[in-house]
Amino acid sequence: MRYYVLDRGDQLSIELSERFHKLAAGYGFELDAQSPEIVVSIGGDGTMLHAFHTFIDHIPDLAFVGIHTGHLGFYADWKADELEELVKFMAGEMQDNDDNNPNIVKYPLVDLEIQAKSGVSRYTALNEFTLKGLDGTTIVAQVDINDEIFEMFRGDGICISTPSGSTAYNKALGGAMVHPTIEALQIAEIASINNRVYRTLGSSMMLPKHHHCDIHSRKPQRLQLTIDHLNIPIDDLISIRCQVSNMRVSFARYRPYPFWNRVRQSFLG
Ligand code: NAP
Repeated sequence: MRYYVLDRGDQLSIELSERFHKLAAGYGFELDAQSPEIVVSIGGDGTMLHAFHTFIDHIPDLAFVGIHTGHLGFYADWKADELEELVKFMAGEMQDNDDNNPNIVKYPLVDLEIQAKSGVSRYTALNEFTLKGLDGTTIVAQVDINDEIFEMFRGDGICISTPSGSTAYNKALGGAMVHPTIEALQIAEIASINNRVYRTLGSSMMLPKHHHCDIHSRKPQRLQLTIDHLNIPIDDLISIRCQVSNMRVSFARYRPYPFWNRVRQSFLG
């Protein structure tokens, strides 16, 4: 098996990473930074975002596994003290099903295309992207759905999340938890101003895969675009088009850990 390990850089994650390499060598796994089959992220869900963007050009060819150095996470669903067990599962020495292969679950992603006066750029988000004012100022944006004007937004910002990102920033905004088998994106408002001029729906919305949304900048403004953990200042935005991506991200599940169990354990205890 060709693998790569990416860790958060703290003491425990580095130690776990070193232990993983030793165990992997014992099973004959091959360390491969260019074309791994499995990428192991050690740290937290935030580390998985780094791993995802590090391998963004190889997403269809690999699967991720996450080890959490604290509590269990959403992407990182193995605990630090389960490292040996995980490697045994990866080597096929332990198995949860008959065919000796992990269950590969595929989660939807969101594509965004940014039109700015300086050019066009494209990204894919695992959790979400947000558009906010750079200096804490409100933004003014026209939101179109399927090429029809939907609303004129003024407020702190707009958050567009994937189903697996629905448990992250989107949740803090009052958005719905979305099971990752549902191919949709969610639009949530960040502190909208509602008056006679600017009127928005107020509740979050979900768009199916075949719909698209355009966010048009409607005044000269210094904006902050976040894509997962990435931050991009942008002062010449024309518009952003977003839709559910045709690409999906794979996670290797060596044992079942259903989404709603993760939601319950993370938020309800
Ligand atoms: P961070 O601010 O250091 O950590 C953000 C927190 O979000 C961490 O506790 C992280 O878990 C957790 N998280 C990440 N993805 C998640 C998911 N899919 N479901 C549930 N929790 C998740 O930033 P970061 O580590 O670079 O992560 C960037 C993410 O922070 C963004 O994608 C955004 O979703 C989130 N964020 C949230 C808020 C908010 O809730 N008010 C504001 C800004 C950004 P771990 O501890 O396991 O890494």
